Amino acid sequence: ALSIHSFGVLRLPDRIHFGEGSFASVPREAVRLGRRVLVVCDPFLLETEELSGLLESLASEGAIVSVESEIIPELPLDVVERVSGRCRSAQPDVIIGFGGGSALDMAKLVSLTLRHGAPLTQYYGENAVPGPVVPLIAIPTTAGTGSEVTGVAVLTDPDRDLKVGISSPYLIPRIAVVDPLLSVGAPARVTAASGADAFVHAVEAFTAAVRDPIWGAEQPVFVGRNDLSSLLALTAVRIIFDALPRAVRDGGDLAARHAMAYGSLLAGMAFGSAGTHLSHAIQYPVGALTHTPHGVGTGMLLPFVLREIRASASDRLAEIAEAIGVATGNAETSADAAIVAIASMMREIGLPASLAEMGVTEADVAKIVDLTLSVKRLVANSTLVPDYESIARIVTAAYL
Ligand code: NAD
Repeated sequence: ALSIHSFGVLRLPDRIHFGEGSFASVPREAVRLGRRVLVVCDPFLLETEELSGLLESLASEGAIVSVESEIIPELPLDVVERVSGRCRSAQPDVIIGFGGGSALDMAKLVSLTLRHGAPLTQYYGENAVPGPVVPLIAIPTTAGTGSEVTGVAVLTDPDRDLKVGISSPYLIPRIAVVDPLLSVGAPARVTAASGADAFVHAVEAFTAAVRDPIWGAEQPVFVGRNDLSSLLALTAVRIIFDALPRAVRDGGDLAARHAMAYGSLLAGMAFGSAGTHLSHAIQYPVGALTHTPHGVGTGMLLPFVLREIRASASDRLAEIAEAIGVATGNAETSADAAIVAIASMMREIGLPASLAEMGVTEADVAKIVDLTLSVKRLVANSTLVPDYESIARIVTAAYL
């Protein structure tokens, strides 16, 4: 039965433009937010028609435009601080993030620092951003992190053993523009890693724990899994499972690119409210240790996490089996079939099969388990009652 609580709320940008050609909406939207525009763009976009066209259209709308393109994947802290310092003189009214998840997160972090000051360490975690940031427009070129619709930015701090997240509703872009044509040139390994990331967002949003609402909180940072986020998540699971192998096999398959852009957008909308859980929690130390792309880690870990939560989430896993076409008619065996099919899809798109293949050593396993348990927000968002043994079982199985 539905209750007001289970219908919950979704935290979203004011506007989301989706579809082939939607990129053309950006200049108008930008000048509506202000005249001084800073474009934080992925370096692969320099010298492309997309960027030069955007800059020309912005200028013809009367905007004063500056461009910043020093983006290193997974965002090392020193690079973020250097870029933010350099962008200060542009005094932007609006910031456009244009590129993969790293570029979108860089735009969020620049916008946060310009409005509230450095150092970024003061904003780590949840709910530490004191107020609105410089308005953001997010244009993803991967499918994807979902960063265009979430209030999350992730970076790498060499002083920490974990990747670091900053999460606040103030970081949600005002406008998201998702044009599938922008992802057509992405190489297969980027398509695979970012697509796996989107699939994990969908599955983890769908299998997240149901949390008690916090009515009347000033900043509802965490909305939690609800019926709306689950509808979006399950649709994303179905779409991405079908489209991802096709997009990796043939980057020019426009139908697969369209489906991936749509699926990753829905997955972002779902996890922006429902959150993610254990694959993400375990990837934080694994990513910091191995310097491997976020989606490679979360995608490789997902089947191992699902095996451990199977007992506490078998009905949800059976629904996933239905969505990806492997249901058996029995909830228990359907859950197993879903896990097997997901592991085989991750293999098909070229992800590593184990943590050892990603460079983790046996001596790292215990440290990864300890550090995972310290990512309390994500660990608590799974249906598992987390203890050292359960997390150790996942990490050990994934290592072998
Ligand atoms: P990325 O942004 O790191 O890009 C990977 C590489 O692909 C880069 O070299 C980039 O230049 C290139 N690239 C991107 N789009 C391309 C295209 N269309 N054609 C050719 N090359 C292209 O990869 P990503 O997977 O999009 O983002 C990963 C980052 O996002 C990580 O830092 C991760 O932690 C973060 N993340 C953030 C959220 C969030 O909610 N904010 C969610 C998940 C992940």
